[in-house]
Amino acid sequence: MERILNYIDGELIEPTTGTYLDNINPAIGEVYSYIPDSNKDDVELAVKAAEKAKEAWGALPIEDRSEALLKVADLIDENLEALAKAESIDNGKPINLARTVDIPRASANFRFYAKAIINQSTKAHITPDKGINYTVRDPLGIAGCISPWNLPLYLFTWKIAPALASGNCVVAKPSEITPMTAYLLSKICIEAGLPAGVLNIVHGLGPQVGEAIVAHPSIPAISFTGGTATGQKIGSIAAPMFKKLSLELGGKNPNIIFDDCDFEDALATTLRSSFANQGQICLCGSRIYLQRGIYDKFLEAFVAKVNNMQVGDPLDETTRTGAVVSEQHQEKILHYISLARLEGGKVLAGGNAFNPEGRCKNGYFVQPTVITGLDENCRTNQEEIFGPVVTIQAFDTEEEAIALANSTKYGLSATLWTQNLTRAHKVAAAIKAGIVWVNCWLVRDLRTPFGGVKQSGVGREGGDEALHFFTEEKNICIKT
Ligand code: NAD
Repeated sequence: MERILNYIDGELIEPTTGTYLDNINPAIGEVYSYIPDSNKDDVELAVKAAEKAKEAWGALPIEDRSEALLKVADLIDENLEALAKAESIDNGKPINLARTVDIPRASANFRFYAKAIINQSTKAHITPDKGINYTVRDPLGIAGCISPWNLPLYLFTWKIAPALASGNCVVAKPSEITPMTAYLLSKICIEAGLPAGVLNIVHGLGPQVGEAIVAHPSIPAISFTGGTATGQKIGSIAAPMFKKLSLELGGKNPNIIFDDCDFEDALATTLRSSFANQGQICLCGSRIYLQRGIYDKFLEAFVAKVNNMQVGDPLDETTRTGAVVSEQHQEKILHYISLARLEGGKVLAGGNAFNPEGRCKNGYFVQPTVITGLDENCRTNQEEIFGPVVTIQAFDTEEEAIALANSTKYGLSATLWTQNLTRAHKVAAAIKAGIVWVNCWLVRDLRTPFGGVKQSGVGREGGDEALHFFTEEKNICIKT
């Protein structure tokens, strides 16, 4: 069985511990490869390699750095099929989704930042008769990047690409639940001729490898995407060390649908925004709020469509809903569905585990689930489930919709459906979230800032924000 290896100092190497963890294919419920069970000694090796490489990488002409990253992007594209298959097997997501969204977005991350770095400018302020202030931005040296399992290569590269582009070396840790595409990325970086030590990938568990990265004194910046509780823990270690921190955390996103929406568009997109990637996208809407005038009609049409969704083998080209990521995650989702029932919820669609026929009969699947009859204060509507489960509630006024949208501790994203422009502006402005989509969902432009508010995160990623995060700004004042 294949053993994944760490990528340190330009080479694929065994963990210092000599031990490995099982990597499970969630669609069949079987171990299919092994992951290094690394610890702080492996992180130390990675930091040493990055220390050795950082001066030369930071001093490289921007065009050369850009060229190196473009080569990585090209190789991701060339390996699209292998990467999509690996991600589907690792994660349980439909191969079609990995092929059309996750992997293309991973190469887009490298390509975007390879080009963005060429177009960076610095500021100058002229104080008449006194001086000129100009600002320069220097790389931080070494960046720590830690990512989750739901969009494995896409989110991993979204951190790594801007960190490398702005002249840093990186010590990165992918999720131990979905390590395979990060391993394939190491091979791609070797083939692309990325200098040794510029990118180092250490596999293993969060408390062993992740915490060692966060606590390492030679790593001044941590970019983390994952759960809110993990973010809290990371903050408690990094903040007293005065590290730069970017935390992209959990969500419980509202999807507000007014009477005057484009019904068919809202219906079709809500199906996607609720259940894409089995609801395991941090930006999925899990709380649907329907204005009273379309409540019955929308609910009936939505439940009918959900009941028609086919759950099945992620490697089947026609599958649109695959497995959830692990047995433990399946249990968590089913536990929340039971809790919803206990809280008085009515399950109108799904509500159970699912076992497809054939090769996936022992895999971890959950039926797309729709629940009504719960108010906004119950745990089902307050806590992040991160699976194919949505609740639906009615509202009457704009004010009520805004209050419902803002009723959780999270503030990652929101979706809003209306044909009334004034209402769209007013409600979007009042929702506390990092991004509000009006009459669309998951439309992303890499130039725009991204990040949550409240307990969904601290700091912004994307565009120039990411390049700024991975650099430190200095003002130089010259007397005139
Ligand atoms: P997680 O917090 O369990 O793990 C994320 C990463 O952190 C993994 O690599 C893990 O090994 C590591 N980790 C765990 N404990 C650690 C510790 N003590 N110190 C350092 N690193 C540690 O999250 P997950 O279950 O992998 O991902 C799901 C979560 O991610 C959900 O809450 C989801 O909303 C969130 N998410 C947020 C965004 C966003 O952009 N805001 C995007 C995707 C996912």
